[in-house]
Amino acid sequence: MTRVGVAVPAAGSGRRMGGVRKPFLELLDEPVLLHALRPFLAERRVAHVVVALSAPDAVDPPDWLADLDERVRIVEGGETRWASVRRALEAIPGDVDVIAVHDAARPLVTPETVSACIDVAEAGAGAVAGCPAVDTMKTVDASGDVVATPDRTRLWHAHTPQVFPARVLREAYASSMEAATDDAALVEGHGIRIRMVDDGGLNLKVTRPDDAAVAESILRHRRAS
Ligand code: C5P
Repeated sequence: MTRVGVAVPAAGSGRRMGGVRKPFLELLDEPVLLHALRPFLAERRVAHVVVALSAPDAVDPPDWLADLDERVRIVEGGETRWASVRRALEAIPGDVDVIAVHDAARPLVTPETVSACIDVAEAGAGAVAGCPAVDTMKTVDASGDVVATPDRTRLWHAHTPQVFPARVLREAYASSMEAATDDAALVEGHGIRIRMVDDGGLNLKVTRPDDAAVAESILRHRRAS
């Protein structure tokens, strides 16, 4: 069976949330981070999960996380998401075939999306969870003036998980210069096909205060249906 390692960057400052420690914000009485981890822990192919936390949290993690599952390890994150992912990758043992990166701030990820992305990586390609753009997108210049309207039918939002053959992701991180906004951008150009996996569009990132209310109502709706 394919062995999967999961890197979970959770060391952000929560600046846009007013400094709230986002991974520990509760949605329906459970931390955002627990919602984000559960679909991975439910996947049989997942062998290791490394969570990158901010320095104080990594030194003194909450009991629920320390006792969650024997596959979970905690490391201290870095100054940027890229640095946090890099540290998590270093802590994932070398016995995995595939590595998934998933933002702790995406608590609505489903087991179906996780498994579909792992299936793609198991077959040797890269997988990026996301959804087709529903709004028309504009390219603007530095002052905000519109310079182009790209063809919407070719545009997708890129979310996480992003899942790759382990060797390719490790190489991409080893040779990267910290410029990319996501993991796939580092892997593009490393010779593998990268496919979008439709996550239905509700896999939102809890970024601003109102996002928590939206995420909670989606979770409530899912539980009721
Ligand atoms: O800031 P942004 O919303 O892009 O963060 C995406 C994910 O990266 C979040 O889960 C956040 O906790 C994590 N992150 C991190 N280390 C940082 C900055 C962000 O692990 N220094």
